[in-house]
Amino acid sequence: MTRTVYVNGDYLPEHEAKVSIFDRAFLMGDGVYEVTSVLGGKLIDFDGHLKRLERSLNELDMPHPAAMGDLLEIHRELVRVNEITDGMVYLQVTRGSDGDRDFVFPNPETTAPTVVLFTQSKPGMAKAPMADKGMSVISVDDLRWGRRDIKTVQLLYPSMCKMMAKKAGADDAWLVQDGFVTEGSSNNAYIVKDGKIITRELSNDILHGITRAAVLRFAAEAQMEVVERNFTIDEAKDADEAFITSASTFVMPVVKVDGETLGDGTPGRVAKRLREIYLDESLKTAI
Ligand code: PMP
Repeated sequence: MTRTVYVNGDYLPEHEAKVSIFDRAFLMGDGVYEVTSVLGGKLIDFDGHLKRLERSLNELDMPHPAAMGDLLEIHRELVRVNEITDGMVYLQVTRGSDGDRDFVFPNPETTAPTVVLFTQSKPGMAKAPMADKGMSVISVDDLRWGRRDIKTVQLLYPSMCKMMAKKAGADDAWLVQDGFVTEGSSNNAYIVKDGKIITRELSNDILHGITRAAVLRFAAEAQMEVVERNFTIDEAKDADEAFITSASTFVMPVVKVDGETLGDGTPGRVAKRLREIYLDESLKTAI
């Protein structure tokens, strides 16, 4: 089946979809994005992703696309026509193209944002084998820009981090700045020590994960203790357990940090419980 995608108001077969070579995202990385998971044909945490999209646009003085109010309908239509049961909807909004290359932002009155959405099918996504096995991470220097709270498409360094992890035989990288873990290359990072869930506090240093917000809320509701503070890689190596969160991995246990095995090397109790709660609860509110 040919995938149907959405570009600036049109639903098209993917090979017919086109964006200008002058698009600011192509030339300058001047675009923002969101990834919303689909489970059982329904969108997980859609409102959270929409709110963060609005925030990213506002922080970059990027005009809101005319389709802003139709985004839920567009997501649902793509899920429907592409017959997605489990998977993701990728959404990107860019500052558009004014037909040339210039560092200065184009006039928003005359240059409309570009809006692109497409689906990715991942059957059985909630039952990823890695959730049973746990994942390994390596630490790398966090060399990204200073506004990681804005979800921009400038993903070159995170891609390089994934490649460094792959080369080292690990599953992902945790980024370290001034001796403290900021977050994973495409996820938020947590350790668990003496029953406490520890994760870096929100700031411009990390993406304000939608899954993070939900998981911390569910953890508090389940009377688990959450401490939002910086932690080091040494603390992570010495932790009872660790995990990551993101829209596409939900809660994923980490069992190895820089080659050191945590606990008995299998997913920890807290991570497993939070994954179960997150999947249960977010399915209840899926739309
Ligand atoms: N941090 C980074 C750097 C990310 O790229 C992501 C996923 N896009 C996250 C955290 C997790 O955010 P969310 O839970 O909203 O997917």
